[in-house]
Parts: sequence; C-alpha cells; structure tokens
Amino acid sequence: MPRKTDPELREFLRKLPKTETHLHLEGGLPLELLREIRPDEPTPESWTDGFKYRDFTHFEQELLDWGFAWHTSPEQYYRSAKMQFERHLELGVKYVECSFASGVSEFGGLDAKEIHLAVLEAVPKDLEVRLFMGIHHSGCGPKMRPVIEDALTWDGLAGIDLHGPEDLPIEPWTAEIYAAARVADKFTKAHAGEFLGPDFVRRMLVEIGAERIQHGIRSVEDPMLLDQIKANGIALDICPISNAKLSPGVTLENHPIRELFDAGVKVTVSTDDPISFGNNLLDDYEALHHYRNFTREELVQLVRNGLEVALVDEAKRQTWLDELDALTA
Ligand SMILES: [Zn+2]
Repeated sequence: MPRKTDPELREFLRKLPKTETHLHLEGGLPLELLREIRPDEPTPESWTDGFKYRDFTHFEQELLDWGFAWHTSPEQYYRSAKMQFERHLELGVKYVECSFASGVSEFGGLDAKEIHLAVLEAVPKDLEVRLFMGIHHSGCGPKMRPVIEDALTWDGLAGIDLHGPEDLPIEPWTAEIYAAARVADKFTKAHAGEFLGPDFVRRMLVEIGAERIQHGIRSVEDPMLLDQIKANGIALDICPISNAKLSPGVTLENHPIRELFDAGVKVTVSTDDPISFGNNLLDDYEALHHYRNFTREELVQLVRNGLEVALVDEAKRQTWLDELDALTA
C-alpha cells in the first residue's frame, strides 16, 4: 500500500527550520551518483512502501554494496556529501549531524582524516553540519584504536558514534575512548535499542557514557530506563521509516515513538540511511502524522526537540527557535 501523503502538510513541514541528527553519509548516497558508476542500477526494492529487511545482515550487505562502491576516495565523499547537504537545504533543514564509517580506513584503505576534511569542505554556507566518526562494535580492531585516538584531536570532528550490529561485542577499550573523547570536548553518541532491548541502552549510558542514543526505541519496554533517560536529559534520535523497514516487529502503525513522546522523552526525527529506505526527512515527519496521529503541534514539538539538542551556541539556537515560533504562531 503506498504511503499516505498530504501536499499541504508537506509544505508546512518543509518551511519549518529542521534538524537531522542521525544520518550516515554512506547510507545517504544519492541514487543518481551511484548510477554514474552503475548506469543500470535499479531503484532499490527496499524503497517500496511496506518493505521489510530480513535482518540486519540483509540490510548491511546492500548498504555496503551501494555505499562503499561510491565512497572510494575523499573526492567521492565530497561529491556525495555536497549533494546530500544541498538536499537538506531544499527541505528546509538548518542543522545536520552526520557520520562517516571509520571502517573506510580499516577496510577501504582510505585516510580517515582526509575523509573528514573532504566532508567539511562540502558544507554549504547556510547549513550547520557536525561531523561524527562512526565506530563499528568490533570492526575497530587494534589497528583502529590509534586512528580513533588521533581523530579526537581533529578540530573539525564533532564527536564519535558507535554503530553496526548491536549484538557484536564492543571493544574492551570503548569506554576509555568515550571518556577520552569527552575530555577532548567531543560529543559522544551510540546506537542502541534498535535491535537489542533496554539492557543494552542502559549499558551504553552507564558503561560508555553516551550523551545521546541513536534509535533507542526499545527503551519503551522499561519504565525505569525511561525515567533514567529523562532525568539525565538524554535525547533519542529516531528514524521512523528506517525502523519500520528494519527493526523486528516495528511498523509505522505501531512505532514506539508515540509512546516515548507521550512519556516525555526528548525524541528527534531523522532518516538514517536514505539509500536503503528511500526516505527523506519530510517523509519521516509525515509518516508520524498519518500513522501515529502526531498533530501539527506535536510535529512542531519534534522539530523544536531537534533544535534544542543541536550542538550550536545559544544565540544561533534562539534564532532558529524564534523562526519556528514565528512560522507556527
Ligand atoms: Zn543509524
């Protein structure tokens, strides 16, 4: 069944000063770019409404095939990031937090520092971008530790994020790296609660001290964890369409973002990996209206949440909040 859409609501959403705080640059590869190197690449089946990946491996194999086919040099990262950021501006996005996979350094033989410089070079002047290095659970072997430690000294790197299959063990030194990152004034995020339950979310908060959780949707199963999340001001960067197509048991109709929002948890809306899910940010907001009954006021609150968690100075934040208030008064 095709996803519901409402052009008037979309236009309302497009005008709002929005954020995207959960985006993987490899997974954001525009299909047009992929078709430069693979002219016959079909539109992914996973873009179909109602599509469900069999499991994380199914998703990861496709993403690796697309994302790493293109992102083979700093120049390719530059072109991909530039097009992604231009699209953000077209959708009314003011602020983006995105990550690149440190695996390009370990497995792709690329220089991670050059990648991060190329991405920063691609940032247009009207968009605020905070770049993160994505660290794979166990994909960062001993060879990667010095690369990550070096990354903590790069001025342009906003922080680090732990991603990849949640059930893989994390490196024993992850907590040390996370502590060192905060000392170096880097922001720390971790993916959790997309597949594994509340215990893993709690572990990421307690053991490595993640300051924001990517997804975190299974936190909904544990009221005590929700209290902890709220008491510590932890936000969850949630990607509804990604979850509906990938997280076991989750659909747009039963997505727990409604329960999390109603429980008073600070949740934000993002896209995750648009090449894998065929979504853009307006699709994700719109889906919450059509399938989880978010009113316009509630959608505006989700936009506000994004502005509130953005890693910007207070003057900049206030400019955006004033703009949001003016548009929605
Ligand atoms: Zn993600």
